[in-house]
Amino acid sequence: MNSPELLMPAGSLQKLKFAYAFGADAAYVGVPLFSLRARENEFSFEKLKEATELARSMNKKLYVTANIFARNRKINSFESQIDDWATLKPDALIMSDPGLISMVKKRHPEIPIHLSVQANCMNWQAVKFWHEQVGVERVILSRELQVNEIKEIKDRVPTVELEAFVHGAICIAYSGRCLMSSYFSYRDANQGVCDNSCREKFHIYETSPLQDKEYYVEDLRNKGQFYQIDEDEHGTYIMNAKDLRLIDHLKEIADAGVCSFKVEGRTKSEYYVSMVARSYRQAIDDVMAGKNFDPKLIEELDKVANRGYHTGFMVNTPKEEGQNYDTSVPRFYTQKFGGFFIEQTGEIPAPAGYKTLEVRNKLKLGDKGEIITPDYRSIPFEITDIINQKMEKVESAHGGAGACFVRCDELNIPNMSLLSVHA
Ligand code: SF4
Repeated sequence: MNSPELLMPAGSLQKLKFAYAFGADAAYVGVPLFSLRARENEFSFEKLKEATELARSMNKKLYVTANIFARNRKINSFESQIDDWATLKPDALIMSDPGLISMVKKRHPEIPIHLSVQANCMNWQAVKFWHEQVGVERVILSRELQVNEIKEIKDRVPTVELEAFVHGAICIAYSGRCLMSSYFSYRDANQGVCDNSCREKFHIYETSPLQDKEYYVEDLRNKGQFYQIDEDEHGTYIMNAKDLRLIDHLKEIADAGVCSFKVEGRTKSEYYVSMVARSYRQAIDDVMAGKNFDPKLIEELDKVANRGYHTGFMVNTPKEEGQNYDTSVPRFYTQKFGGFFIEQTGEIPAPAGYKTLEVRNKLKLGDKGEIITPDYRSIPFEITDIINQKMEKVESAHGGAGACFVRCDELNIPNMSLLSVHA
């Protein structure tokens, strides 16, 4: 078996560098107008070009996401942009709209197409259709499939490449085919502007304060707005799915025929991208080396922000353990992102015995944690001295204020190493 690909999200050029440095084989980026991350997405054509050059120089792959379901008004602008993208020779386009796919097939048949999870491909006949009739090289499977279903798909359509999500946030709807965000805040998830309505806080009333019907929820962002909810024989469904984590099931998923393990999270931090990439890199390498799963990797993934983890539909149909009823914000994590080490800030070199740190979250003297390097070392660390850019000793440093210098006796710390401190 060839080693499955580790495919990481990259919401920015900087995150792309971290993804590759910490073990990704491939990454996906998207242009704001045509991918499902319309916000917090810096990928102009120029940035895409830089990203492509970076990928080539590191012998990695780069996939460009253009997976919206387009309205008529986007057809012409899509047509004018695909010619530009083609000049970059992307390793693949990730797409879902049959109309846009047919345009690419006609104008640039040399560009491989990976069918986005948005297309909700859930059975072997659908995979066969997309692969054999339309000509997509790879299908990104719906997150609602179980591993035995994936195996049957691969058995019946052996020439298709299959990609599956193994980590990250999941929709409570069929992978984004959801109108909730449109309904609550007029932001259409299928145009890339989902407001994550399903993760917001709702208050449940057994009897509405306004009318005397039973079971209402109040959206706490819009107090005073009540929505009636129903209950069937299985209960009532209030939303906030836990995050997917399949790191300890990679062997069975690979055995079922999946060649690419995908991680969600283009809006997440460099810390998230790096920590998750590093953990899955080790897990994949261990599978290929015939080693048992290392349970320490579970602890590594507990360090980054998450909503609680579960195994989605891959192993079993999730029941109540797949939902997080307690909170609407990510809060389960054991460490926080202090920052990352850089060569220097502007023209100012670090004083002897100090390293330059780009600060991301507040740090103070006495904070303990570890330095995590791209070459897979974890070095215990305590902040004993901080110097700001005016060369003054200070007791704390804040994210957003740029870089500072921290005393660091460990000399061999490569740039891009992360500072992770106990939460
Ligand atoms: S609101 Fe939730 S379920 Fe709907 S598209 Fe957004 S993340 Fe997915």
